Amino acid sequence: IRVLGIETSCDETAASVVGLREGAAPEILSNVVLSQIEEHAAFGGVVPEIAARAHVEALDGIIEAALADADTRLADVDAVAATAGPGLVGGLIVGLMTAKAIAAASGKQLLAINHLEGHALTARLTDGLSFPYLLLLVSGGHTQIVLVRGVGDYQRWATTIDDALGEAFDKTAKMLGLAYPGGPNVEKAAAKGDPARFAFPRPMKGESRPDFSFSGLKTAVRQAATSIAPLSDQDVADICASFQSAVADALGDRVARALVRFREDYPDSEAPALVVAGGVAANRKIRSTLEELCASHGFRFVAPPHALCTDNAAMIAWAGIERLQAGLADPDAMDFVPRSRWPLDSVSAPVVGSGR
Ligand code: ATP
Ligand code: MG
Ligand code: FE
Repeated sequence: IRVLGIETSCDETAASVVGLREGAAPEILSNVVLSQIEEHAAFGGVVPEIAARAHVEALDGIIEAALADADTRLADVDAVAATAGPGLVGGLIVGLMTAKAIAAASGKQLLAINHLEGHALTARLTDGLSFPYLLLLVSGGHTQIVLVRGVGDYQRWATTIDDALGEAFDKTAKMLGLAYPGGPNVEKAAAKGDPARFAFPRPMKGESRPDFSFSGLKTAVRQAATSIAPLSDQDVADICASFQSAVADALGDRVARALVRFREDYPDSEAPALVVAGGVAANRKIRSTLEELCASHGFRFVAPPHALCTDNAAMIAWAGIERLQAGLADPDAMDFVPRSRWPLDSVSAPVVGSGR
């Protein structure tokens, strides 16, 4: 079984071919990602119209490259899977319509995939993880803890009540005059800073509600930054280090809560696991905090390679394969309209109809 995946929900134009042979581990035959970071950098964030236009210009070539890299002709592909939401609707339309056209012209099956389901199932592609497990998704647009019980069977345990974590990194960077995307630059600056200089708040820490919040922390960073003028490189480094340490602390508190709940809900689970995904998962301070937390709670810590943690099409192709294998491919995918909002726990297993 071989699936062509297409991802255009945000600022990456991506295509990939993933294969699965009976009795063997899945294989990523190609994984082509074109980042639009440079197009958006001047604006300090993703501009939806620019993103949609860039997807239109790049997608055909990216798909051709993915097929060529995989040494695969369209005729050898069993299905076409495209991200159908959530995300920026302009980009989603470009990707899903292209996939519909390819599917219609080649007589292949179409799969309309939820982007978050792609992130949620990646650890099964890379590590062969079995259900159930916990997913921590921390990216520019999402901050969630999700219980992954099976294909199409997800329960969101926590989400952010304001900013996404990647967004908090990007806004902090902007306030400090660091370039976009902010995450990597904040981490770099933090390496030379004193994490104890500023006592930033740990939003939600110790609260019984399971969710995340980062806007209070952002405000505290702004106050610290504006109270010192002009900011020296050392000030910037100290703010970044203090911010990162507050983030790791707050995140650790929320995740610890979920690990405890997982233990309660699945007392017989012999090898419970926490998977991280999303661009923020690249952060070493956050990683080491989560690693220690998992070790102390007896959880396996699974962090797929960075290229598969950030937006890519291999995870979309793989989610398509998972759905095909589970008999959960939506027979009405050709009629699917892209959804800018599409919560993961509403991606229930579709009722399998007569097909078409
Ligand atoms: P979506 O939310 O739709 O999945 P996205 O494009 O916003 O998409 P990703 O590409 O997964 O998300 O991640 C980008 C985010 O990750 C940005 O906010 C970026 O600042 C953050 N990021 C990247 N590297 C690091 C790092 N080393 N430390 C902290 N944050 C980082
Ligand atoms: Mg991105
Ligand atoms: Fe994503």
